This record gives sequence, structure tokens and C-alpha cells, in this order.
Amino acid sequence: MKWEENVRRVVPYVAGEQPNRPGMIKLNTNECPYPPAPGVARLAAGLDCDALRLYPDSSAAPLVEALAAYYHVKPEQVFVGVGSDDVLSMAFLTFFNSGKPILFPDVTYSFYDVWADLYRIPYRVCALDENWHIRPEDYRQPNGGVIFPNPNAPTGVLEGLETVEEIIRQNRDVVVIVDEAYVDFGGESALKLLEKYDNLLVVQTFSKSRAMAGLRIGFCIGNEKLIKYLSDVKFSFNSYTMNLPAQRLGVEAVRDDGYFKATTAKIIATRERVKEEMRKLGFSFPDSKANFLFVTHASIPAGEIFQALRQADIYVRYWDRPRISNSLRITVGTDGEMDALLAFLRDYVDKF
Ligand code: PMP
Repeated sequence: MKWEENVRRVVPYVAGEQPNRPGMIKLNTNECPYPPAPGVARLAAGLDCDALRLYPDSSAAPLVEALAAYYHVKPEQVFVGVGSDDVLSMAFLTFFNSGKPILFPDVTYSFYDVWADLYRIPYRVCALDENWHIRPEDYRQPNGGVIFPNPNAPTGVLEGLETVEEIIRQNRDVVVIVDEAYVDFGGESALKLLEKYDNLLVVQTFSKSRAMAGLRIGFCIGNEKLIKYLSDVKFSFNSYTMNLPAQRLGVEAVRDDGYFKATTAKIIATRERVKEEMRKLGFSFPDSKANFLFVTHASIPAGEIFQALRQADIYVRYWDRPRISNSLRITVGTDGEMDALLAFLRDYVDKF
């Protein structure tokens, strides 16, 4: 068909499966195993449905203000979107227009190359070192922008703020995006560097540490000028992206700092305990500072373990891709879920 010649063809990002069977253990998409803050449930139950007649606030002002107050920045420095995927996608569209390749790690969030292809942004990947760390010197080559997650996904490896700063300092003429989807599980945020660098954009999400993947809330913080450019693109794309319930419930989640800190602390404690147990079972992994572990077994291929777990209704993530095809990414669930995983693995590993 002739019209097919002019189709924008893309190979879409493939998200983790979302099966929902009673009794299954879902450790494949890095969701939070605990519910959102109790105030969120209270507010959701009493949601004023008449308000849904109206369009929501297109700038999500109450949520922007709550985030600005929480992170001690001006509201003009905050941009919110429908999950951080929306924020990142808008940022690619807004900032990566030089025609020069943007740079990101070879093993990283697999949406980056998809957005680059979608928007026809050239890119070059920089190989992580043998310990899965970024080599900052790779980011000295000419480029049209830089993006990396910190901690990285799917490895969980955290770069120190010195490394992050070195990359930003080397790239003052382009926008550097630090994707901090997992920073609340033990990372140090690049937000501290915002005063020094006007080319830095820090992206975070409510999907992991704030237990609200289902509501789709993400945000970024940066220099006022960056945010203004980002908003101009967003308002040229779709004005009313973030729905009213998400805006209201998001504010409530930000308000309950005690719950947020307690939940992330619980996940970190479980993660550290599971690390010990996994080592005993013959798994090795980089030291994760995220809410997941990236594990390889000494003798059993990851693909086989993945299938065995799946048959037992335990879902983890596996990619048959270069460099990572012998690893599994396992989200840190509740202690009960992790105990069930460990019990299964003990039994399974024993049979080999
Ligand atoms: N960045 C990274 C590194 C992620 O792993 C994810 C989760 N898939 C996201 C961004 C997007 O998450 P969300 O759109 O739910 O905020």
C-alpha cells in the first residue's frame, strides 16, 4: 500500500507484563508493594465527582506548589506529567534538537532509544564498565544532550554525586537529564546541583517510592528557563494531561512525609536482607541502591530461572539482550513475597 511509505514507523517500548491473578507474586515492574499514604485513600473515597465535569487545572498548580515546597525550589522550576515517562518524552522533544547524537549508557532504561527513534534524534550509547558503572570520560565527546538514570536501571547501580557533576560540568552546552526514578531508595539526588548548573534537569516519579504507579504522576525540576521551554512544548501537545484525581491525590502523597520515609526504609531493609540470602544461593549482583536487584546465578542460566519462576506464578523481569541475557531483575516486594521467592529458589537451586 502506497500510504505505508509515509507512516512513522516505530518499534515500541515493551513494558513488563501486568498479569493480575490471585496469589501471584509480581516482582517485574518495580512497583511499591505497599499502599499509598493513608490520606490518599481517604481523599479518594471522598472524591467530589461533580468536579469531574470540569477540565482539570492544566498546569496542575497545587501539585506543582506542593512539590516546590517539599524540594525547596520555586514553583517555576517544577514541571509535572503523566508519569515520568511523559516528562521524559516531553524533555526529549524539547531539548534534544541539535542533530548531534545524544548519549546514554549501553545498559539502561530501554525507553530512551525508543523516544530517540520516535523523534528522530540520533543517539550513541556509551558502554558501562565491567562493574556496570558509567565512565564519565565517555561523555566528553561532542553530543546533543545526555541522559542517564541514577541509580541506573536495570542494574540498580548508583553513581556518586561527583560523577554526576563531572558529566554535567563537561556538558555545559547541552541539557543533561538525570532520571531519578529510584533515587529515594538510597541515592543522593542531583537536585543539590541545580543552583550551580542551568543545564541540569532532574526527573522523578510517584510510581515507585510513593506507591502510585496507577495514578501516573511524574515530575522534573530544573532551571526556570528549562521548565518554561518544556511547558511551551507540553502546551503545544496536549493541555489537559494530568487528570483531577491524580492532581489532588498527588498533593496528599507529598504531604505525608512520615509515611513516605517509613515505606522507603522498609523496602531498603528488605532489599538488604534479600541480598544476603541471594548470595547464599549462589547469585551475584551489583550493589543495588534501587528497589530491585539485578542477579546472575553462578551456574543456572537466567532464562531458565525466569521460566521456572513464572510457572510458580512468580513474575520477575528478563531481557534476552546483549550483556544482560544472563541476569534477572527482581523487584523488592514485601518480606512475605521475598520469603516465598527465596523458598522457591532454595528448592530450585538445590535440584541442580
Ligand atoms: N525511568 C526509569 C529508569 C524507569 O525504570 C521507569 C519505570 N519504568 C520510568 C522512568 C518511568 O516510570 P513512570 O512513567 O511510571 O514514572
